Amino acid sequence: AKKAVLGPLVGAVDQGTSSTRFLVFNSKTAELLSHHQVEIKQEFPREGWVEQDPKEILHSVYECIEKTCEKLGQLNIDISNIKAIGVSNQRETTVVWDKLTGEPLYNAVVWLDLRTQSTVESLSKRIPGNNNFVKSLTGGASGGVHCTDVTNASRTMLFNIHSLEWDKELCEFFEIPMKILPNVRSSSEIYGLMKAGALEGVPISGCLGDQSAALVGQMCFQDGQAKNTYGTGCFLLCNTGRKCVFSEHGLLTTVAYKLGRDKPVYYALEGSVAIAGAVIRWLRDNLGIIKTSEEIENLAKEVGTSYGCYFVPAFSGLYAPYWEPSARGIICGLTQFTNKCHIAFAALEAVCFQTREILDAMNRDCGIPLSHLQVDGGMTNNKILMQLQADILYIPVVKPSMPETTALGAAMAAGAAEGVGVWSLEPEDLSAVTMERFEPQINAEESEIRYSTWKKAVMKSMGWVT
Ligand code: ADP
Repeated sequence: AKKAVLGPLVGAVDQGTSSTRFLVFNSKTAELLSHHQVEIKQEFPREGWVEQDPKEILHSVYECIEKTCEKLGQLNIDISNIKAIGVSNQRETTVVWDKLTGEPLYNAVVWLDLRTQSTVESLSKRIPGNNNFVKSLTGGASGGVHCTDVTNASRTMLFNIHSLEWDKELCEFFEIPMKILPNVRSSSEIYGLMKAGALEGVPISGCLGDQSAALVGQMCFQDGQAKNTYGTGCFLLCNTGRKCVFSEHGLLTTVAYKLGRDKPVYYALEGSVAIAGAVIRWLRDNLGIIKTSEEIENLAKEVGTSYGCYFVPAFSGLYAPYWEPSARGIICGLTQFTNKCHIAFAALEAVCFQTREILDAMNRDCGIPLSHLQVDGGMTNNKILMQLQADILYIPVVKPSMPETTALGAAMAAGAAEGVGVWSLEPEDLSAVTMERFEPQINAEESEIRYSTWKKAVMKSMGWVT
């Protein structure tokens, strides 16, 4: 017998840097009913290059959908209750494919990739007058429907975030033919129907870049509300309402969301850290001191301190607030006594210090300091990390019981779309999500001393590459 479900269901594809997931939520409570996840390979063909196979990505999406539907079947949940699908994706990762065959021309070039550094430098020299020309405008499948949403478009440097159109002048400047670019739609409307598989015919009606999706999933709909997502990198976004705020402290201005064709556009200020969870993956894959990312917590717990060791994981240079491509990773403060547990602890602490740097920049730009930090993402399952974060920020850290906020945001956008209308975006539709709070436990002075030592380490990481 099919089990009765409490309301319509909505699926979400969460195509992240480290994995692809498909998740199915109950639209009346936001309860996560089932999901499936597949890790994605990353290739590093040369130093600074990061690529992924677009076919592997596409295949992983189908695989996750099929496996999740099977799991729902085992729970006696009828998949015909799935009324819509939302998509959230890694932003800035770029694929070019042949319009006729649908074949990708080359691997996906991942957002972490540094190969365009010299191109950026030569383009910067051509910018008339001042560098703000680009900043002020941008803020920083074959045959089928070729479209994207405003949040993704706003990350290309080709999109005018005021007029919400591809910008002719920018496309000419970067020598990108406008005709190869996708149509730009809102983040919540029916774009098309699933063409194959268990969910054939279900509308795809939500599309948000991952960080925007997390902002929506955390219900940060008011001016001044912010969230930090801990995945491969860390991304702190603060909703600035319907106005574009330009940073004086190294943050980017981006489109937050536009939840419907006739709905207004909202903007956000964003602070980004390139390497967060990626440092844990590096300790796993490159040093082999852990076998799974989760193991880092036990190693760190064994010592409870880095014993004066600081780890600046500037593998791809430093992002906000430094934007320093010449930086490279360093581990410093080593003594005879230092062991892998201290390095594990220092790696977790690095994520917290980097967050503190972007939070400080955000507070300076916004004028009103955040009273607490809403967090989500794969790394927030790590309790030591969450406690360290509260200690280093010296404000409470608040984490939803269900950390898949990115997928939830994409599902909410899909469920709320005109013509679907199964999600109201009101707080009562999130009744299954409870919150866990981490309060600062060390004294403020100790917190400041550690933070200032971190800054010394950051200074040492700069200028390695010329
Ligand atoms: P993304 O969306 O960028 O793919 P996720 O939100 O899925 O990232 O988080 C995965 C990242 O978090 C990986 O880099 C992984 O190493 C790290 N991670 C996952 N679980 C833990 C944990 N318990 N402790 C520390 N890091 C973790």
